Amino acid sequence: MAVGLRRPSQAVDLNELIRLFPPPPEYFETAYFAPPEEIERKQLARLRERALTAYQVPFFRRRWDDAHWNPRELHSIDDLWRAPQYTIDDIRDSIEKNPPWGDYQGVTPERARLEPMRIFMSGGTTGASRPTFYTQWDREVHAILTARVHFAMGVRPGDVVLNSWLYGTHNGAFGIDEGLYRWLNCVILTTSTGTVTATEKQIELALQYGASSVLATGDYLLRLADVARSMGVDPINDLKLKALATIGDPGPLEATFGRQSLQAYGFHELGWIAVECPARQGLHIFEDAVIIQIVDPDTGEALPDGELGSVCVTEIYKTGSPQFRYNVQDLSFLHPREQCACGSWLRRMAPFAGRGDNMVKLRGINVWPEAIGDVLRSVPDASKDYFVRAVRKGSRDELVASVVTDKSQDHFAAIQQEAERRLRDRLGVAITVEVVKPGALDQLTEIATSPKPKRFRDER
Ligand SMILES: [Zn+2]
Repeated sequence: MAVGLRRPSQAVDLNELIRLFPPPPEYFETAYFAPPEEIERKQLARLRERALTAYQVPFFRRRWDDAHWNPRELHSIDDLWRAPQYTIDDIRDSIEKNPPWGDYQGVTPERARLEPMRIFMSGGTTGASRPTFYTQWDREVHAILTARVHFAMGVRPGDVVLNSWLYGTHNGAFGIDEGLYRWLNCVILTTSTGTVTATEKQIELALQYGASSVLATGDYLLRLADVARSMGVDPINDLKLKALATIGDPGPLEATFGRQSLQAYGFHELGWIAVECPARQGLHIFEDAVIIQIVDPDTGEALPDGELGSVCVTEIYKTGSPQFRYNVQDLSFLHPREQCACGSWLRRMAPFAGRGDNMVKLRGINVWPEAIGDVLRSVPDASKDYFVRAVRKGSRDELVASVVTDKSQDHFAAIQQEAERRLRDRLGVAITVEVVKPGALDQLTEIATSPKPKRFRDER
């Protein structure tokens, strides 16, 4: 045996892991109802410890030294506001200067000689992929958080589930697989997306084995329902899914499957970190594993509760690659800490509301692609799918919004006019609209494969 090699049972003390990060159902009987003092005491202790280990990583040490921020000066959680934040641009820069892994990783592949390790990567559809190493401990906690989210969504031990997320370099499917296999005791059929296992086949498998859930994007689930109907299978009475474990607009999903659809939030560097409760007053954050702050997308300054801004996250659960004040540039807002109708004191955040780095200044007016999408969705005969491009025309920046309709071509001009009129009225600036057929935007939006559909491309 290689010197130092540790087997899974040696690398992680599973009893300690469960004590610190309870999996479901225990989590929803214990830490979920912790009083505020206990939540914050635990957070501060874990944060202080994490700051010291993150300081050993060159990327953080350099940035913190430059900003004269000392990780030993964390006396309250509010002190975290003084630590420098970073964005995806800093990660890209780190990879460019320290190929191929960057110097923001707390560990390198060498570490895998000592313990089982995994690498997760961003989808990498635009620009280079961003790798994140997970030690075995980090993988286990990530998997427990995943299990918590799916338990909250209604998935239960002993369930047979289809995992229709894409098993590829985008690691969402593997994360869900590990979480539900290891910590929720589900039996997983690894179908992957409709391009890997035909949707008709997926429906047959779900019926044959009595699947309680099909894990996929909301858009794929809606597509699956359409295909089911064309096969004479009723999505509500025949498929009988017990849980809608998905991401997407809850309205159409609930109408289609006759089940409540709760929202969740996460990203590849950290996994799933928040999930909605049945009271539906926001997504409860797993505060034993992360601290969420909301910052101004332009200045990085703190924003008050209730105000929409960029999610800035600090994980307090890992042993390998740190994320310490990582400004993810996803848009959300925080609710004040108060007891929810479900009984939990865990802070709640709003669902993902778009990307903070997609804002375009158009003739002095700040425009978000998501705001354009909201307007487009109100246009009669327009479907909810859309895509926005920023282009340069002569000396002016312009936005072109594409909207989908299943109406015939004769209706395109009327839909276009109505959409342009509404955009001008609501946003106060002229935006060009083009009307396209269903499917025309799928390549751009990655709607069937990505947990967060793309809505914007800067072509200037
Ligand atoms: Zn609640």
